[in-house]
Amino acid sequence: MQLNDINLLRQQCYINGQWCDANNQSTIDIANPATFDVIGSVPVMGADETKAAIDAAEAALPAWRALTAKERSSKLTRWFELVLAHQDDLALLMTTEQGKPLGEAKGEVAYAASFIEWFSEEAKRIYGDTIPGHQADKRLMVIKQSVGVTAAITPWNFPAAMITRKAAPALAAGCTMVVKPAPQTPFTALALAELAERAGIPKGVFNVVTGDAVAIGNELCANPTVRKLSFTGSTPVGIKLMQQCAPTLKKMSLELGGNAPFIVFDDADIDAGVEGAMIAKYRNAGQTCVCANRIYVQDKVYDAFASKLAAAVAKLNIGVGTEPGVTTGPLINADAVAKVQSHLDDALSKGAKLLAGGKLASIGGHFFEPTIITDVDKTMLVAKEETFGPLAPLFKFSNVDDVIQQANDTEFGLAAYFYGRDISLVWKVAEALEYGMVGVNTGLISTEVAPFGGIKSSGLGREGSKFGIEEYLEMKYICMSV
Ligand code: ADP
Repeated sequence: MQLNDINLLRQQCYINGQWCDANNQSTIDIANPATFDVIGSVPVMGADETKAAIDAAEAALPAWRALTAKERSSKLTRWFELVLAHQDDLALLMTTEQGKPLGEAKGEVAYAASFIEWFSEEAKRIYGDTIPGHQADKRLMVIKQSVGVTAAITPWNFPAAMITRKAAPALAAGCTMVVKPAPQTPFTALALAELAERAGIPKGVFNVVTGDAVAIGNELCANPTVRKLSFTGSTPVGIKLMQQCAPTLKKMSLELGGNAPFIVFDDADIDAGVEGAMIAKYRNAGQTCVCANRIYVQDKVYDAFASKLAAAVAKLNIGVGTEPGVTTGPLINADAVAKVQSHLDDALSKGAKLLAGGKLASIGGHFFEPTIITDVDKTMLVAKEETFGPLAPLFKFSNVDDVIQQANDTEFGLAAYFYGRDISLVWKVAEALEYGMVGVNTGLISTEVAPFGGIKSSGLGREGSKFGIEEYLEMKYICMSV
């Protein structure tokens, strides 16, 4: 890996403005998921170091929240500029530790930066309310104040954006934060800390701790100083963290698993639907929580859609993400490969037919061929569980009400997509889908300006948009007798 700025490869944690090792000096090697080469190592920290980071965040809080919004905003703006200025290095670091193609990694860096830019602006728009008094001598107001010390636990699939989507609104609101990045992708997180430091974000305001997920997580949840935890990851871990946060009644944002339906109606623009499905299914090798997991195609266009999707999949190019022309990188690890394989085997054993792909790629490692199966039905695992890999199962349907019922027949409720042109149908389906986000005639819905989040077992709260900063604010009602 040839970074232009070698100081972006940080192999220590960032606590209270210092680059630190674990108390017991232990480290763990981090490997490239495409080549298995060791990239470097990071400290294995536990509860004590996490407590030190929380203490640092607490000590930094009074001065940080006392800055004017404009002062916090200009530091965030500087951070945003530095992230964009180092887009190529950050993307290379990300591809090396995460596997996604370099073009996608660059896109993610820009997406990650956009949250910092957006919330640097929103910092200045934390408005309160005045309320007409209930008695003649009463004047009532609502002000918004930062919740205080916050924590974030983030996943490996978006190593930069999942951090900035939490840290930027937190810092904008006047909170301080301790971040525990995913064990697979610590270097992007540490590079973001390096750039935060260069941007002049004061010591203790933004801290990154790597190491033992359970020990760090326990401390972040149990420590009463932490007033809010924001987590993106799997539903079982989210539930566990919520239980662990219950004794200290922390505010929580949980962005958890999905099982996105992608519906193509008979009157849809099929080419557009295929293009949307390619993005919604195969981006990041199918490893996003908003990936299309179940593709429902109405009977009249089923065969045409399937053959056009197969033609598009044939153009995908599997390989190491830093190589030119690669569209599909490796899966993150052997467990991820096993899950895709098990969903595929289960479907084929119950009567599904293989249309494309279907096995580990010939280049070895954790590369799985982009795969399509047809004749899929609801008895199969792919109907119920999130595959989190490049497997597209095509279900056939004929009736609109029936497909809405099937699409909603899941504990999850994050993203849903559909393609159709009849305006009445579009409204009916958009309103009927029990999801936090619905893409209509598009397969790409994520943007910093819109609220991202789910319902049901997909989580609590929203990130991004004008709503995202509310998650880091408390409302205070002031009743004044005059
Ligand atoms: P995935 O299976 O996709 O890695 P996880 O939900 O296991 O999703 O991981 C998301 C994040 O949660 C990672 O940073 C991981 O280290 C962290 N994590 C996993 N288990 C725990 C736990 N028991 N306590 C705290 N954090 C955890």
